[in-house]
Amino acid sequence: MFSGKTSRLIELLEREMLAGRNTLLFKPEIDKRYDTTYVTTHKGIRLPAIVVSVDNDGVKKIKTLSEGVDVIGIDEAQFWDHDSILPEVVDSIASMKKIVYIAALNKNHLGIPFKTSQEIIARADQVYSLTAVCAKCGEDATFTQRVMNGREVFGEAIKIGGMESYEPRCRNCFVFPSVEDIKKLNGT
Ligand SMILES: [Zn+2]
Repeated sequence: MFSGKTSRLIELLEREMLAGRNTLLFKPEIDKRYDTTYVTTHKGIRLPAIVVSVDNDGVKKIKTLSEGVDVIGIDEAQFWDHDSILPEVVDSIASMKKIVYIAALNKNHLGIPFKTSQEIIARADQVYSLTAVCAKCGEDATFTQRVMNGREVFGEAIKIGGMESYEPRCRNCFVFPSVEDIKKLNGT
């Protein structure tokens, strides 16, 4: 989060469009922070996007629509959960001589890797690892901390908006969930 991954995705897609390639951008339906027909970067750059559901029907829609284009982009791919067919499907689209760009967070706010992101990384030909700036100390940040009223909080894994906010943290400043927090999350 705040690493510029959406900006980078839009930049890569814009380059493909300038090269004359037909391009489609997809975003998960779960992301309702901004309007539903554009992908917007934190800097306010917008690109039209097709909103698809985060279940396998959404993935099948991506596959079908990709048939008519040369390049696809997918933003926030971590929202397709761990048993999603997204990694296999984007792999098969890439094998049809199409270019696939995917932006995804690799860890959730507990510091735990998203399985879908990990599997996409393993299947990718090229991986760009972007870092944010730690909100506490200014070092490179690869963690995302959920904060509410100035306190680090944990809870369900995917949630956007509401009263809590998210901030980038480096490994030293990131507060990992305690054993008790993990137990609470697992309902044990
Ligand atoms: Zn730090």
